[in-house]
Amino acid sequence: MRIVVDLTRCQSYGQCVFAAPSVFRFHGEEALEYDYTPDDQFREQVRWAAAACPVHAIILDDQDEQPKHISHKENIMGGKA
Ligand code: SF4
Repeated sequence: MRIVVDLTRCQSYGQCVFAAPSVFRFHGEEALEYDYTPDDQFREQVRWAAAACPVHAIILDDQDEQPKHISHKENIMGGKA
């Protein structure tokens, strides 16, 4: 999972910080910092954070789920399942 926050839209409401404090945090009074590629264990929290953002500034990219499907297929085709 990758995250992009459109900082031109972010109004520092802090909803994402409450929803996923391990991923989003404030540096100083209003500067939002975040992990671009959070661990999978925070996936649900990040989705809540994106849903909670009042200005829809958080964009999620779940493309890294694809390789899991590919490797699963490869396992089946390779007879390792
Ligand atoms: S919830 Fe949205 S507007 Fe608020 S700090 Fe997070 S990204 Fe910025």
